[in-house]
Amino acid sequence: MTEPFGIGAEVWPGLAKVTEEAGELLQVVGKLVATGGRPDHYDGTDLRDRLIEECGDLLAAIGYLTAANGIEDAVAERAARKRQTFEGWHRREAERRAIVKPPGPHDRPPPGQTSAAGSEPSETGAPDL
Ligand SMILES: [Mg+2]
Repeated sequence: MTEPFGIGAEVWPGLAKVTEEAGELLQVVGKLVATGGRPDHYDGTDLRDRLIEECGDLLAAIGYLTAANGIEDAVAERAARKRQTFEGWHRREAERRAIVKPPGPHDRPPPGQTSAAGSEPSETGAPDL
């Protein structure tokens, strides 16, 4: 008989595998944080490759867990809603960055021109209105 929580178990089958794979993903994420995001690790492995591998392993483990425990549809529904939330946060952050982005060399007006009429300070230092 398979122990509880293992693949094929009678009690929460797949729970142990999700735990194992989540831990392995966290290890890779920790190494990426430690390298400042660079994928080259001192042990000679490519952390981007390892991230792909462990994300895939965790997705497979979650897929098995949810199917084997009859919660697949409910989890998929929740995941879709959560993904929409994350995409909204991403769009909002991208918009905020575009607003506060400092002007680059291609954003400057040609020499001798001001960026907007009336925006240059007068001799008193106050803007012309
Ligand atoms: Mg793994």
